[in-house]
Amino acid sequence: MKTIRSMVLVSSDPISLQRGAQGVFDRLQAEIKTYGLDEEVSLAMIGDVGRHDALPLVIVYPEAAVYGPVTVEDVHTLVEEHLYKGRIAVDLQASNRELSGKIAWLNTRKGTLPAEQRIVLRRAGIIDPTNIEDYILHDGYTALGKALTESTPTQVIDEIKKSGLRGRGGAGFPTGTKWGFVAKEKSAKKYVICNADESEPGTFKDRLILEGDPHSIIEALALAAYAVGADEGYIYIRGEYTLAQERFKLAILQAKEMGFLGQNIFGTAFNFDLHIHSGAGAYICGEETALLESIEGKRGQPRTRPPFPTTHGLFGKPTLVNNVETLANVPPILLNGATWYRSFGTLSSPGTKVYTILGNVNVTGLIEVPMGITLREVIAIYAKGMKGGENFKMAQTGGSSGSIIPASLQDTPMDFDSFGKAGVALGSGALLICNEDTCVVDLAKVLLNFFRTESCGKCFPCRIGTQRAWEMLDAIASGRATLKTLDQLMELSTNLYNLSYCGLGQTAGTPLKDILTHFRAEVEAHIRLGVCPAGVCNTKEAVH
Ligand code: SF4
Repeated sequence: MKTIRSMVLVSSDPISLQRGAQGVFDRLQAEIKTYGLDEEVSLAMIGDVGRHDALPLVIVYPEAAVYGPVTVEDVHTLVEEHLYKGRIAVDLQASNRELSGKIAWLNTRKGTLPAEQRIVLRRAGIIDPTNIEDYILHDGYTALGKALTESTPTQVIDEIKKSGLRGRGGAGFPTGTKWGFVAKEKSAKKYVICNADESEPGTFKDRLILEGDPHSIIEALALAAYAVGADEGYIYIRGEYTLAQERFKLAILQAKEMGFLGQNIFGTAFNFDLHIHSGAGAYICGEETALLESIEGKRGQPRTRPPFPTTHGLFGKPTLVNNVETLANVPPILLNGATWYRSFGTLSSPGTKVYTILGNVNVTGLIEVPMGITLREVIAIYAKGMKGGENFKMAQTGGSSGSIIPASLQDTPMDFDSFGKAGVALGSGALLICNEDTCVVDLAKVLLNFFRTESCGKCFPCRIGTQRAWEMLDAIASGRATLKTLDQLMELSTNLYNLSYCGLGQTAGTPLKDILTHFRAEVEAHIRLGVCPAGVCNTKEAVH
């Protein structure tokens, strides 16, 4: 039997792969063999570890030494120094490559970190996601075993209700309440579904969870199924997430072999089977009823509601649909208790939130922080400030369906209720941070281009309204609009919200409302002065 003394993990997210992570992995494999270390060193590819400033990363445990960005040429030194001679290859450490402080989160477990709190991503970068034993060693499937053998389904739902967990897909609906709706339905057949059709531009948090810790979602789905009385589930994964799909397929096979899926799980009467459904690239399939249509083999378009999926869902049966991040919170809550979970975040929005940070900041990537942190703190602590010391102008939250947050709201706590009171939305968790070189008209144009392209066409307010909104923005950007256009744009925003059939069209008007509410003078300058204050739009066609 092999005695493993070191575990070497290589980041394998798309950026790492683009920067040669596969070559680094192959060279590590060869060098480890050359030094005769293959019996005592395990090597694995992991997913995205959250920070994108030093990729590809190589992390060596038990020392938790982080090397990056590692090239193929660095590998010989890394293996000889760290794995063969047993000393840290200091020159290759990410912290010594002019990246000091930028990966400080990796020391969280040693308590040296600022405020990042990892619940959902607690195993990302720590375990080999292709190895179920590694997952089990890190408390994997313990919550499921505990729930199946010690709790009734009602007790499981009560614990989730007590925890205050709210859906992380954007709407913030109380998770336990939703579970209760499905549980109370009298039906011999029910389904649970994980919505992993993450298609919001700039959002990649679910991919990271699926690639880095796929078993946590299998365990969560099994727990949800037990709680609501389902025996079959689906995970609907975005088609472009090929690595996540591979990891999840393997994880399902492993879970079946070990008896965590299938018949009589943990020796109980609970049976549960899980399938993967690959999305085909339509943003609308992230809307839960369009997702159900898609799994049923129909065109992915939203259904009329009511009835809701909790009573009439997949194949007409009661169905629970939760997104990846929401589900990833479930096993730790059931393992540690609702009181523990409520020690993070705010009273009305307990727990943590995963954010992707993008835009004009020094460090982009992904963080998990307690609910209630402010945008100012995110920029200062995690993004290490604005790039080039520029001024912060605005942030766009939650992918395309989020809000445009002006600098005046950067001290508003980022939780469902505080943002709701301020009239802005938390969205799915993407934070696009912009400096003063970003034009609000141009940004809104990009967003409306996304909506007009992704509109499924089922209802005309969205199908035609998103196109007309884009045309008006284009007219403003090129100096062809009049002040009347702004009134029409505001009216269109209201109509999109009130008349569209589903969330896509309803939120398509948000950027229009936001720029006219918070940046009216800048928008008007395009019309009155024929000038784009940010210097982005070509207003040459302006008629003065
Ligand atoms: Fe389709 Fe847009 Fe109507 Fe939704 S709002 S049903 S995406 S056309």
